[in-house]
Amino acid sequence: MRLVAAEIDLEALSFNLSRTKAFAPQSKIMAVLKANAYGHGLVKIAQHLAEADAFAVARIDEALALRAGGLTKPIVLLEGFFHEADLPILLANNFQTIIHDETQLTALETANLDAPIATWLKVDTGMHRLGIEPSQFESFYRRLKACANAKPNVNLMTHFACADDLANDKTTKQIDAFLHTINSQHEALCLANSAGIIGWPSSHGDWVRPGLMLYGVSPMVGQIGSDHGLKAVMRLTTKVIAIRKVAKGEGVGYGSRWQAKETTYLAVIAVGYGDGYPRHAKEGTPVMIAGKRFGIVGSVSMDMITVDIGDNTNNVKIGDAVEMWGPNLPVEEIAESAGTIPYELLCNVTPRVSYEYLG
Ligand SMILES: *Cc1c(COP(=O)(O)O)cnc(C)c1O
Repeated sequence: MRLVAAEIDLEALSFNLSRTKAFAPQSKIMAVLKANAYGHGLVKIAQHLAEADAFAVARIDEALALRAGGLTKPIVLLEGFFHEADLPILLANNFQTIIHDETQLTALETANLDAPIATWLKVDTGMHRLGIEPSQFESFYRRLKACANAKPNVNLMTHFACADDLANDKTTKQIDAFLHTINSQHEALCLANSAGIIGWPSSHGDWVRPGLMLYGVSPMVGQIGSDHGLKAVMRLTTKVIAIRKVAKGEGVGYGSRWQAKETTYLAVIAVGYGDGYPRHAKEGTPVMIAGKRFGIVGSVSMDMITVDIGDNTNNVKIGDAVEMWGPNLPVEEIAESAGTIPYELLCNVTPRVSYEYLG
């Protein structure tokens, strides 16, 4: 084992996909694999999601990497295409595109293509990021139906802004606005991200778009994956490389930001922000060494972190494995302690970390 490893539990991944199906039994699954499958490894993760009905990514390069890896399922581009010149690539690779604005629709209408492309018309029901206004729906829908470069079945999509918060009625308003806007049209509907799947059953359309929950992590405010019966897929681990005694009053690490209040032992562990561990993780953020929780102290460095293990060595030894997050230490808790969200921690694992696929 290398000094820092991201162990990826593929059985947990399959398990989470079946949990997702249990949440939304009537819906097809579009597994969201953008940003290197949330830092888990794009092609490896896709290969182990054979039970998904389609994949979704943010960029054409990600979709091409899936094809280069031998994956043949339909792939949806969540932001659509960016240039007319992309359209033949979409066609040649069986990529489906979002249409979210006039520029894209015009490009599709005027392109010279050998065959039509599958489309998803995205309606903005309150996220105000991508999507057409509800008032534009009728005209976009009619033009897509008439467009020879678009397959006849116009699939319909929207995206939630606040579905992670069950106390916020914005999601209900978005669902109502979507259903009201599309009115009589009966093509495939897709609304729910992970938070919609877990928290808002009325948003389960013909398709759902789970990302975070597939990786075993909760999208809901104040909850962790196991609260929904999900299993953490990634375990970020490192090793203890030194054990030090520091005297009361001594400062530790860059800026001597932390001073020992009592004489104590420190374990120095071989992971830092150069591996993607958050530099802003606050004092006391937990790590797990030999089955016990200890808190980090001092500045997170590029390659190392210091951990206060108390007034004796607590049986911690050089070479001991350390879990930074994973099945025993929820990444949601680490994110909270670092003032961020689990999505960011997972995506930020850097290429120097060695990936090990288990199961
Ligand atoms: C990222 C993304 C998803 C998946 O969101 P999760 O919260 O990870 O489930 C779904 N839909 C769109 C449009 C996205 O950008």
